[in-house]
Amino acid sequence: MFNPSRLTLARRRRKFSKKALAEALDLDQKTVSRYESGDCLPPPESIRKLAEVTEFPESFFSGADLDEPTAEAASFRSMSSMSARERDAALASGAFAFMLSDWVHERFSLPVSEIIDVKEGSSPEAAARLVREHWLLGEHPIPNVLQMLEAKGVRVFSLAKNSLSVDAFALWRNEIPYVFLNMHKTPERSRFDASHELGHLVLHRHGGTRGGRAVEDEANQFASAFLMPEADVRAHLSNVYSLDQLIEKKARWRVSAAALNYRVHRLRTLEAESDTFGQDTNGAIKSCRPSGIAHIRACPSGRQHRLSIE
Ligand SMILES: [Zn+2]
Repeated sequence: MFNPSRLTLARRRRKFSKKALAEALDLDQKTVSRYESGDCLPPPESIRKLAEVTEFPESFFSGADLDEPTAEAASFRSMSSMSARERDAALASGAFAFMLSDWVHERFSLPVSEIIDVKEGSSPEAAARLVREHWLLGEHPIPNVLQMLEAKGVRVFSLAKNSLSVDAFALWRNEIPYVFLNMHKTPERSRFDASHELGHLVLHRHGGTRGGRAVEDEANQFASAFLMPEADVRAHLSNVYSLDQLIEKKARWRVSAAALNYRVHRLRTLEAESDTFGQDTNGAIKSCRPSGIAHIRACPSGRQHRLSIE
């Protein structure tokens, strides 16, 4: 039996407007609207064409409703630079991630979420420290953030190629945390993005639709503190004298020079020390683009690539 909601999902996943899909199917827009609303059923020939145009199998259009993440539940970072169509495509890919995740969950034992529930109003710095304590990480740098998140019960998926304008997003579903990442960034950026989304999962779990700059700043501060613990940074980089020194030291925490510069600057600000280096150096970092770490392709489980929902 044809399921109209699956047509809507497939259309949004492939970034078609109703008008564009109607043109591709050689139909008028009203007919596509009626198919999607369930007012009339498409004939077999239209379903065949639909499958061809959207690159989904014909059988896809006759399954049960699929659970899809909502924009309200997801932590979208670049809402302002993202079109509604791009956002919808990313959310639609989330529906397929849920489907795959449920399939795996029914057949295998996956790690249970170890993300702690921090007190509302906790500072990002304190929350990052609590997570590190709970996960027994000490003050050391984290070799592989994505593997660590998966081991702590987070379902990590990479965003598909047609959603790359979306940096990342995270959400809770049935007490299970999900993170969706754009893996076409530098390794340093991916590590920071993953930590940023962890920040949302920890800090904004009960935040509902709360969004905006303040929430993003909190997630960035969490990521910064999580990746670069205060004691370790102070032990290895008590002061910054030059950009070269910053570039040399960033390898320890596997972060960008800009992220390390921000961290050192923030720690010095927290300490109410005078710090002109941090602010003055950002421009220099952007212009010289220091070399970074290489992508880690292999992991202990033998998988070469993270699951990508196309
Ligand atoms: Zn964010």
